[in-house]
Amino acid sequence: MSKIDELLTKFQEIASDPKARMDSYIAQGKKVIGCFPYYVPEELVLAADMVPFGVWGTHGIINAAKEYFPSFYCTIAQMNLELGLTGKLDGLSGVIVTSMCDTLRPLTQNFRVGVPNIPFIFMSHPQNRKLKCGIDFTISQNKEVKEKLEKIAGTKITDEKLKEAIKVYNTSRAARRKFVKLAGEHPEAITPLQRSTVLKSAYFMLKDEHTAILNELNAELEKLPASDWKGTKILTSGIIADSESLLKIFEDNKMAIAADDVAHESRSFRIDVPENDDPMLALALQFAEQDCDTLLYDPDINKRPGHIVNLVKESGAQGVVILMMQFCDPEEIEYPSLKKGLEEAGIPYVMIGFDQQMSDFGQAKTSIQAFSDVLNTQN
Ligand code: SF4
Repeated sequence: MSKIDELLTKFQEIASDPKARMDSYIAQGKKVIGCFPYYVPEELVLAADMVPFGVWGTHGIINAAKEYFPSFYCTIAQMNLELGLTGKLDGLSGVIVTSMCDTLRPLTQNFRVGVPNIPFIFMSHPQNRKLKCGIDFTISQNKEVKEKLEKIAGTKITDEKLKEAIKVYNTSRAARRKFVKLAGEHPEAITPLQRSTVLKSAYFMLKDEHTAILNELNAELEKLPASDWKGTKILTSGIIADSESLLKIFEDNKMAIAADDVAHESRSFRIDVPENDDPMLALALQFAEQDCDTLLYDPDINKRPGHIVNLVKESGAQGVVILMMQFCDPEEIEYPSLKKGLEEAGIPYVMIGFDQQMSDFGQAKTSIQAFSDVLNTQN
């Protein structure tokens, strides 16, 4: 087994069994806090000597959550509630649930009522995040989260601890950005599924542990000779793209992921937290700096399409695969402006409906094969 394969196997083991990882942290005497999508300031959890643990749904069938949600809610919200209702999150010392879209708002209340055994921390974000009042609001929300975490941890989150946590996270973000670039440059070494596995596993590991392995992997990838990739390259866009069945279709069609605009992937580690003397302000400034995300208010509808067009050009992608989470209002609302931007730039794209209950990928396979043919004719 090559060193690269050996390192990828470590990530694979963790990404395929998050509960085992959570249980191992608990067995070490650590408290673990579930961090729901989106923009949870995980640094606060780490600064309280606890383990931030990503909870972004899972693949399977939703049953118990159907009693709380009508079927036209996105699966990521329903799945997170399902995980709680069916005891899969038992062991967590708390969860932080945000309210960034119309689906997450009812999730906050349904989770609070339906899963009373897990301490619940509500978190709100301002849409006018760049104004002074927005920055003040983010600080006030983060302070509330901080106080609740301190209660659970039984320890104070000092500025020094928070600054250390910010450093750990900035280092992790940089390593993940580097990996995304290297994976795009070396599709012969990293398949779409392996790329997803590396990024997904970060949600279930302490970031310094993840970074240590990722740095080794990045170093190995840097040693590789320039790639002689004969397939095509795409950019993926959407909320989450961690489906093994879907990613295997890309692989079967020799499509490599050159870059992504995925909330669960690059959107979550694009912006570092400023390392300054006031870490609570720094966290709010980082959120204020976030942009080009369907979850965030942006008065300029051309900004995100322009950002994605640039990403396509910079990464050498030949087209965009938009993975449209079913019943996701924020992604659907911004689809027309993205479509217009891509068409104006002459970038081929395809939109594929996707959700975490999907088991039949026949239609997706046909669409991706046809899109692959389009890209190949341009090669
Ligand atoms: S942003 Fe979309 S996918 Fe995410 S919770 Fe809201 S509706 Fe669901």
